[in-house]
Amino acid sequence: MARRWMEARMSDADFLNTTNNPHGLTRRDWGRRALALALASWSLPMAQAQMSVQGASSADAAKGPRWQTDPFGLGVASGQPLPDSVVLWTRLLIAEADAAHKAQPQTVLCEVFADEALRQPVRQWWVQTDASRAHSVHVIASGLQAGRSYWYRFVSGSATSPVGRTRTCPGDNDKVAQLRIAQTSCQHFEQGYYVAHREIAKRDVDFVLFLGDYIYESSNPRYMVRKHIGGVPQTLDEYRQRHAQYKGDADLQACHAAHPWVMTWDDHEVVNDYANDQDMKYTDPQVFLRRRAAAYRAYFEHMPVRLGPDPAQPHQMRIHDQMRWGQLADIWTLDCRQYRSHHACPDPNRGGGRVVVGCTELRDAERSMLGSAQEQWLYPSLAQSTRRWKLVAQSTQMSSSGIATPQGRSSFTDGWDGYPVARERFLNTIAQAQLKDVLVLGGDVHMNVAANLRVRPNDDKSPIVASEIVTTSISSRGMSETLLAHIRDNNPDIVHARSDERGYTFVQVQPSGVLAQMRTTPHPAMEGSRLQTQAQWALASGVPGLVKA
Ligand code: FE
Ligand code: CA
Repeated sequence: MARRWMEARMSDADFLNTTNNPHGLTRRDWGRRALALALASWSLPMAQAQMSVQGASSADAAKGPRWQTDPFGLGVASGQPLPDSVVLWTRLLIAEADAAHKAQPQTVLCEVFADEALRQPVRQWWVQTDASRAHSVHVIASGLQAGRSYWYRFVSGSATSPVGRTRTCPGDNDKVAQLRIAQTSCQHFEQGYYVAHREIAKRDVDFVLFLGDYIYESSNPRYMVRKHIGGVPQTLDEYRQRHAQYKGDADLQACHAAHPWVMTWDDHEVVNDYANDQDMKYTDPQVFLRRRAAAYRAYFEHMPVRLGPDPAQPHQMRIHDQMRWGQLADIWTLDCRQYRSHHACPDPNRGGGRVVVGCTELRDAERSMLGSAQEQWLYPSLAQSTRRWKLVAQSTQMSSSGIATPQGRSSFTDGWDGYPVARERFLNTIAQAQLKDVLVLGGDVHMNVAANLRVRPNDDKSPIVASEIVTTSISSRGMSETLLAHIRDNNPDIVHARSDERGYTFVQVQPSGVLAQMRTTPHPAMEGSRLQTQAQWALASGVPGLVKA
């Protein structure tokens, strides 16, 4: 997979070299270049022809369509930062009044500035988009300086987008004082307002880490402060509509415009509790993979991520990745859905996760949450990491949440408890490499959890090898506190767990330690809800185990 990254980055550079025009671009040149763009070979997965230009002005772009309705209604976003580049995203949402422009390819100008007042242009790109990609725009904004903020916007004809702010990573070997992450997951649109995003947008963070369940395919009539448009999405157009509805939220837009996002997904981006090629209804895998391909494609079209679905295998899309934050931290973002083994001991009538007792299949060594290729990619780089903090970002809870019953201990098969041998492989990798300062960051379970991780969960003879912070949901409802009390009683490794509040977790990483501040509110069913700090947990470098702060 590293090779594909290299190809992606080289292709970008090669393409820019052949089309970059240091002397500026006249309108006539532009016509010829537009043709070249349209004919450019699409060597990247979902690659989009982009061309670096200098001296292009908004006036050039303004020669495009005269829009009746603002096409930038979904806002702007940035993501997957590197020391020298970041992805800049928008999507033209073309209204019925402008339908005449829908069928034609549209050329969009992307401008990057060094200052908030937009007085110091840095780089500009022309990008071509069309209906085949839902008029989405992904610019790989390269040639940037490490560890600094940039401002950006898009221009199409008479319309100019809102301005976004983004930030590059520090240089790979830079000594940095801190990394500030807003850790987020699970934003069911119907179940609450995005007051957490509103707060994050105003806060100084280096990036937003989103750990999955960006959209939800399904509804729950018991908790509904606003409604999804349409039913459960199955087709590309239906997933596009769902993503567009979520992106229409002003608080979510503000949070995207304020910070770059680093993302992975969980199940609801496709459908609840899917595992690899299997859904809960045991749909024919060939049929389900077509739905997964539609969901992945719509996801790519709406997210500031570098790679889209593989054109040869459109049901596959690489989302797992590794990034560095100077000498301070290595960060892995994992994919816990696309490659996982099917659920163990499933109900033959209704698939997906469930609570099981006495399921011997759970101990099958072949079972994997990440798939063997992702495990083989992760373990060596984790074991060899020389950076102070090793942050492993993945979608769900890694610590055990089983309960003792007369028949044995229960396991919820959709989480890491459903893949206990794979969890041991991960934790053994850390133990054998004698790594210190490993922190797992999770989401999915709609509750705040602080826990310590041992190769043998809850066994105090098995040393703590890592710790875990799971963030509560932005808006999705959590489990009952009564059930959670049983889970806490049965799992001494869990030092904090609360399922009754929504929000996000502010994670401040410094060489000496990590502070996780859980910012929450009771269910945000009122637009004016405010967050407060539910709890703070800290890790000191070199010292295993979370401490209340
Ligand atoms: Fe969720
Ligand atoms: Ca989930």
